[in-house]
Amino acid sequence: MKLLLIEDEPKIARAIKMGLEQERSTVEVMHDGPSGLAAALGDSYDAIILDRMLPGGMDGLEICETIREKGVKTPVLMLTAKGQIRDRVNGLNAGADDYLVKPFSFEELLARLRALTRRPHETNGTTLHVADLSLDTISYDVQRAGKPISLSQTEYSLLEYLMRNKNRVLSKTNIINHVWDFDADILPNTVEAYMGYLRNKIDKPFDKPLLHTVRGFGYRIGGDPNGDS
Ligand code: CA
Repeated sequence: MKLLLIEDEPKIARAIKMGLEQERSTVEVMHDGPSGLAAALGDSYDAIILDRMLPGGMDGLEICETIREKGVKTPVLMLTAKGQIRDRVNGLNAGADDYLVKPFSFEELLARLRALTRRPHETNGTTLHVADLSLDTISYDVQRAGKPISLSQTEYSLLEYLMRNKNRVLSKTNIINHVWDFDADILPNTVEAYMGYLRNKIDKPFDKPLLHTVRGFGYRIGGDPNGDS
């Protein structure tokens, strides 16, 4: 995917760009209103990630309104500050397709982008599977062996990230970058703690463990020598 990111906070812009590039997207970044608008009008993208508050005398709302007036139909995901409900409404009125409230995790951003850029023929395949464990990325239903499993938001994001990368070893750093908020100060043993919570829910009540700790490297779901996935 080719994406345009208009975001003035360098830390957030860098983290989003890096994460999306790992997902094999091309990301062009603009740091203020006027250059963002010029890019949005000057080139075609699969989606635009647009911060609400921008320097340069033109904010996200104006950019969105202007590109819609000029006939640009590219999906726009608007980023808004926490709790500003009026911002969301204004954003949607200005022609944004969806909004995401800061702070958000990379997985949330990715899920919204996937939903926005999904072509009609891609509406299937929203369920991820590892052995008898399934996760529906639209309804957030998680089941193992037909039994519903209830997860907290962080547990869900963690499991989705693991399942999207099944049979692959993911480092703690990788996991932190994808699952937790960009601004969150988290310790490496936070990941261990959440892995413990997940194990208690998705592995402990069942005979066969799906979550594996790979000493010195990180974690993996599925792919054990008995071929469970
Ligand atoms: Ca901003």
